[in-house]
Amino acid sequence: MNAESGAGTYSVLIQFHGDLPFFFPRSAREQPLRRTLSEKTSIKDVVEACGVPHTEVDLLLCDGEPVGFAHQLKQDATIQAYPVGCAPDLYASERLQLRRVTGFVADGHLGKLVRDLRLLGLDVAYASTVADEELIAVSLAQKRALITLDRRLLMHSAVQHGYSPRSQVSEEQTVEVLRRFDVRDLLNRYSRCLRCNAPLATVQKSAVMDQLEPLTRIYYHEFRKCDGCGAVYWPGSHFAKLQARIDRIKAAAG
Ligand SMILES: [Zn+2]
Repeated sequence: MNAESGAGTYSVLIQFHGDLPFFFPRSAREQPLRRTLSEKTSIKDVVEACGVPHTEVDLLLCDGEPVGFAHQLKQDATIQAYPVGCAPDLYASERLQLRRVTGFVADGHLGKLVRDLRLLGLDVAYASTVADEELIAVSLAQKRALITLDRRLLMHSAVQHGYSPRSQVSEEQTVEVLRRFDVRDLLNRYSRCLRCNAPLATVQKSAVMDQLEPLTRIYYHEFRKCDGCGAVYWPGSHFAKLQARIDRIKAAAG
C-alpha cells in the first residue's frame, strides 16, 4: 500500500441479509460479496454497486459497528447489511429507515398497485406519465415513500424513503407495501377516490341523481362522491369481486 499516492487497493466483504439478495444480478448470488476498491468510497456507493438501493437497507454494520450511509471506507472491512424487519434486536437507535410511512408516491408503471392501495383508503400520489425528478421531488416535499420498480431511482441520494416491490403481481405488491410501511391499522376501504386520491364522502342519492345512468338510478341507493374530481361511486356489479380482493389482501398482510 502506497500511502502517499493512495494507489493501494483494499478489499471489502459484504453479507446481505433477509431478502436483500433479491437485488443482486444473476451472476452474484454467492455471499459474501467481495469488492476490491482503490480509493475512499462511501458505504452507500459500495452497497448500491451490488444492486441494492440504500432505501432497502435498515442497518449497516461495518466491522461489527453500526454506521450510516455516508460512512467512508478506506481499508479492508467486513460489512453486514440488513433489510427492514430482519435486523437483529440490537442497535434500535441506529436504524436507517423509518418503519412507518403513511403517504406514498408511485411511478407510472404501478397503476394496479395504486388502485389497490387507494381502495384500502391509503394516500397515494400517482400520475401515469411523470418525470423521475418530479417523483423524487414529491416524495421529498410531501414526505411520501417512493414506490417504484426502478432501482436506479431509489439509489438517488435525495430519496429518503422508498421501496421496490419484489413481486410482479399487483395484489402481492400491495401486501408487501402494507407490511413494509406498517400501515395495516390505517386501512379504511372505499374512503378514497381511485382516480384522483381525494377523500370520498357519503352523499344522498338525490344529490348525484343527474350523474347516474337510468338503471343505476333504479338499482342502487348508496353513493359516495369524491371531494376532488366529483366522481360518484356505488357498490355496482363488480363489488363482490372487489370485496373478495380486499379481504384476501388484508388476510395476507396479517
Ligand atoms: Zn376524485
